[in-house]
Amino acid sequence: MFRRVLITMVALAALATTARAMDFTYVDDHQALQTLNTLADRLTQSTRIRVPYHIGILNYPELNAFCNSEGQIFVTRKLLQSVGSEEEIAAVLAHELAHLSRRFSSPIVRSFSAMDGDEFQADQVGLKMLNRAQINSGSLLMVLSRVTTAWGDNIPKSQRKILEKRMKNIAKKAHLNYKDFVTA
Ligand SMILES: [Zn+2]
Repeated sequence: MFRRVLITMVALAALATTARAMDFTYVDDHQALQTLNTLADRLTQSTRIRVPYHIGILNYPELNAFCNSEGQIFVTRKLLQSVGSEEEIAAVLAHELAHLSRRFSSPIVRSFSAMDGDEFQADQVGLKMLNRAQINSGSLLMVLSRVTTAWGDNIPKSQRKILEKRMKNIAKKAHLNYKDFVTA
């Protein structure tokens, strides 16, 4: 027990260090962290994906989430405050856990709203995790739509197109109508 507590403390200290390195404050919200960890456990337990991960919350002015090759997942407080359901948070975690399961080797920090090929892959694997955990897979589309709307005109058209392509791909795989999830 002591060992587990100690490991958790070391993990938390590492999360805080990463947050500082990114120039953002780590949020020590015990209850929210418990919710996040419960959801992540449910996702990983219902799949064969077994990856070590540590979840933290960031004070960060965007709806976003990040992960890195250390197995750290950060969800922004703003995202937690903006989602409509816990299922949407689960969808974000499923996407980030999907990245971790691929053990990407570069030490870069990946962003939930990133726009390259790896994102399409993480969306697909994330959808599978949600299905196996019996969590509504439409929640991934919902939360990505929320993030895209929050970006507004702050991203170039070409990047918005890629986000839309991600959403269309998710809709197709999850047998959903993309238009039902687009606000503007
Ligand atoms: Zn991603």
